[in-house]
Amino acid sequence: MPVYEFRCQDCRRPVRLWMSFAEYETATAPLSASAPTCPHCQGQNLKRRIGRIALAKSEDARMDTMMDDSALAGLDEEDPRSIGKFMRKMSREMGEDMGDEFNEVVDRLESGESPDSIEESMPDLGAGGSFDDDF
Ligand SMILES: [Zn+2]
Repeated sequence: MPVYEFRCQDCRRPVRLWMSFAEYETATAPLSASAPTCPHCQGQNLKRRIGRIALAKSEDARMDTMMDDSALAGLDEEDPRSIGKFMRKMSREMGEDMGDEFNEVVDRLESGESPDSIEESMPDLGAGGSFDDDF
């Protein structure tokens, strides 16, 4: 089952939720009655984090190594340009061509476009590949 990462807008904590893609679609639909709930404060004000999706093509174990605190230092998740810069650095460190989709996301982030709007225009992001199969 895929894991989806959010940040709780109420208590500012990262939230990891396992759900099927169908559940995710339902839970994140506008005005959904089954909005995902923060396990820390029970708030329903969860915001999807983009890093995980765009890097979904890499292996999880590697992700965890890369995503340690030092790698995340200086990353401002509220600032698309900061996220874009971070993702570009990550892909360089992995020494791997992350593909056109990844590059497009990074370009658009760096031009200041919000992760939400990028995600809306690229519905296939995060679908398929090891990201969905691992769980
Ligand atoms: Zn919370």
